[in-house]
Amino acid sequence: CKQRKITLFGFRGVGKTAITLRFVQDVFGENYEPTIENNFSKKLKFNGENYELEIIDTPGQDEYTALSQNLILNTDGCIFVYTISSKNSFNMLNILRDKIIEKSGVTPMVLVGNKSDLEESRQVSIQEGQNLANSWKCPFFECSAKENQNISQTFFSTLEQIELS
Ligand code: GDP
Repeated sequence: CKQRKITLFGFRGVGKTAITLRFVQDVFGENYEPTIENNFSKKLKFNGENYELEIIDTPGQDEYTALSQNLILNTDGCIFVYTISSKNSFNMLNILRDKIIEKSGVTPMVLVGNKSDLEESRQVSIQEGQNLANSWKCPFFECSAKENQNISQTFFSTLEQIELS
């Protein structure tokens, strides 16, 4: 079985833990507990082959966070998460991505706008998300951990990016 490591990055509170738990355990909790750093694992089949994904749910970053070299260099693919309900969570991702690329070179990645169920609080349009992903030349999804929209697509797309690289 092939082992691949995927790390989620983004502001605190955007839903990295919720996305991970939805994918790994198919649950969603309303409780907000800031993450220290969690490792999860999930077995799946992709293109007829068996994989074991290790998924690393980070505590959350801002523009000033010093990223651990270990975390970045051991990652096969990154999921960059913002929430459609926070422009700040979106705006900081370019800086975060630059920091990661500076340490690791171009890495397979996917951009996701979480909490797509919160349409009434939307601050980031679909077009803005798509434009950012176009500039990064990577796939883009809006997803909802709460309503289980586009969660497995996000992980399969990340795995696809890894295998294409
Ligand atoms: P993290 O800090 O990025 O890991 O964020 P969490 O996964 O801990 O989520 C922060 C808060 O947002 C929690 O209260 C979650 O219940 C909530 N949340 C996460 N995903 C969604 C979602 O898709 N929709 C809504 N409405 N709330 C969400």
